Amino acid sequence: MKTKLAQVMVVTPHPDDAEYGVAGTVVHWVSQGKEVVYVVCTNGDKGTSDASIKPEELAKTREEEQIAAVNLLGVREVMFLRHPDQCLEDTPEFRKEIVRLIRMYRPETIVTADPYRRYVWHRDHRITGQVTLDAIFPYARDLFSYPDLMREELYPHKVKEVLLWGTEDINYRSNITETFRVKLTALRCHKSQVGHVPPQELEERLRERHRLLAQGEDFQLAEAFHRVEILW
Ligand SMILES: [Zn+2]
Repeated sequence: MKTKLAQVMVVTPHPDDAEYGVAGTVVHWVSQGKEVVYVVCTNGDKGTSDASIKPEELAKTREEEQIAAVNLLGVREVMFLRHPDQCLEDTPEFRKEIVRLIRMYRPETIVTADPYRRYVWHRDHRITGQVTLDAIFPYARDLFSYPDLMREELYPHKVKEVLLWGTEDINYRSNITETFRVKLTALRCHKSQVGHVPPQELEERLRERHRLLAQGEDFQLAEAFHRVEILW
């Protein structure tokens, strides 16, 4: 198995979550020459209130929308794990899938959903965040966690930084004032999710949300995270 190095790995529960959570920051990373890859855990086949759409059609549409969004953002690759929507569980199999990708891409930074948001939080978001954190430590790091991955030459890897979106415990804000337009355009690629919202309204809603997240900073618009630096 060959490694395919990337500095940043974004692990998103559904197609569109990463555009809400981190797309503005992704554009900055790409402009700095960083290689960014996406891992999309579920196929999003329950993300509609339109009963005339078949789940398998929706899954296909949402992949196409995600590909359009990552192409716009300059993301190098997107991997679709294609778990059914609303069915993620904290299983050894899912954890190993994430470990495999961490060891293959060997990112410095991983971005995902904060699993510790209280009360109303999509179960897939909670599970994705938790499984990704567990995959980072100890499973991706430790020599004897997966002898079969070692035989595939997928060796232990130490991630340096984790950024969690959707957090109630913000300790890091990224300035997206300059990249907001691209983020908005990427979000609009997810027509099955935002197509019913008038364009002006979507822009205003998103702008207001990122203005609030920038409170206390000397810039206008922010994406906000709980940042964990891992000192190995
Ligand atoms: Zn989601």
